[in-house]
Amino acid sequence: MKSTIKHLSLLIALGAMSLSAQDSKEQPESISRIDFAQTITADDLSQLLYAFAADSMQGRMTATPGQKKAAEFLVDFYKNEKITGALPGGGYFQNIPKDYFKSKYVKTSSENVVAIIPGSVWPQEYIVLSAHYDHVGAKGDTIYNGADDDGSGTVALLEIAQAFKKAQDQGMGPKRSIVFLHVTGEEIGLYGSRYYTENPIYPLEQTVCNLNTDMIGRIDPNKAGNDNYIYLIGSDKLSQELHDLSENVNQEFSQLELDYTFNDENDPNRFYYRSDHYNFAKNNVPIIFYFNGVHEDYHQPTDTPDKIEYPLMSKRAQLIFHTAWEVANQEKRIVADKLNNSSTSQDSNKK
Ligand SMILES: [Zn+2]
Repeated sequence: MKSTIKHLSLLIALGAMSLSAQDSKEQPESISRIDFAQTITADDLSQLLYAFAADSMQGRMTATPGQKKAAEFLVDFYKNEKITGALPGGGYFQNIPKDYFKSKYVKTSSENVVAIIPGSVWPQEYIVLSAHYDHVGAKGDTIYNGADDDGSGTVALLEIAQAFKKAQDQGMGPKRSIVFLHVTGEEIGLYGSRYYTENPIYPLEQTVCNLNTDMIGRIDPNKAGNDNYIYLIGSDKLSQELHDLSENVNQEFSQLELDYTFNDENDPNRFYYRSDHYNFAKNNVPIIFYFNGVHEDYHQPTDTPDKIEYPLMSKRAQLIFHTAWEVANQEKRIVADKLNNSSTSQDSNKK
């Protein structure tokens, strides 16, 4: 979709002017990451989400025509933005055979949609941003739109990708590669992310971290009236450095209230094990899971785009952008210093 960055093009114009008027005393303000982050707007997210969570997508159940249509929507977006597919040859679909899904609902193959912006300095180190694009489908005429779950994470990834592409177009592309991984099969058992981690397009040893976004458009009833929070889960589980970086970035750029309630090992919800980041974490790839908490429309046909808090969602998406930017551009690759050894003990936990 078309970008909305008037102030950025003004800055570029100013920059160009200064080249032709070198003795001018006026120093043009330089373009920064903040300008790119600000291209992630509530309006853009809203436009994308109304389209992506539309009734025409039929609830995006894995291996149905609605899911395939949603996949095409994502591919069209990336092609339009001139962001290449991550598969060899530039394709976007990572095909997952039907038999991989141990589910009676799945009658055909399905696919992850994967795009990449290659790093300019360390292209063989990867930051994987993920969100699942499948949902639970429809029952008769009742469509489960899944606007928050996980239309919100899906379109946030698109806007983040667009912001990184704009940076690249201005010679400020990420130094490490950013992979945009839209996984299928989450609702029926985290299949798409498991398939990716078992058949990684880029080696997991070279995967610096996974930032997973699953439901960032709503406000938890326990947080009623709070339009400035997000739950973070898992940030300190494998890498203290990732956790500290995330805290610092938030303090400097976003000032959101980072709530770690669900990061507690004893939390009965066990959200750490219930979305796609877990398949990375169990392979010792450091992760952060971004989450708004559950609400009355969770997995109901009433999870619709009109109920999304778009300004809050844009703040959350900007935080993820800034965190990815920092991980991608800082001199040293972050270290996973708290490796886990009990990698398979929780595999049966499914969302
Ligand atoms: Zn979800």
